Amino acid sequence: MTDCLFCKIVAGDIPAEKLYEDDEVLAFRDIAPQAPVHFLVIPKKHIVDPSNVSEEDERLIGKLIRIGSQIAAENGVGDGFRIIFNNGAKAGQAVFHIHMHILGGKDRPWPM
Ligand code: AMP
Repeated sequence: MTDCLFCKIVAGDIPAEKLYEDDEVLAFRDIAPQAPVHFLVIPKKHIVDPSNVSEEDERLIGKLIRIGSQIAAENGVGDGFRIIFNNGAKAGQAVFHIHMHILGGKDRPWPM
């Protein structure tokens, strides 16, 4: 999608500190971290938000959790991290390309 910040990161048009990449998934550090370890895991496919996950996306969304957990462990927080998906502006979603936050490295990171 042309006017999507995270699609531009996927395309390499906007820089990001990448932690993982394959043909389907990209993980990168959050630009405004809310915990010592805070990164985002996204599908390269443009899906707007969790409400727009279709049946055919179920495997892909599960993969975000598997890859995110691996990266958490590689970054020293495998024993305790929080996963957050925001859905909709009312919940604080600011970027409308589905993304999974992973936060760790402090107790109860980012309580909302
Ligand atoms: P949300 O509020 O769930 O939509 O989260 C969007 C997240 O994207 C926020 O935590 C932002 O700090 C983060 N963010 C915005 N722009 C960038 C960027 N260029 N690189 C990395 N993270 C970003």
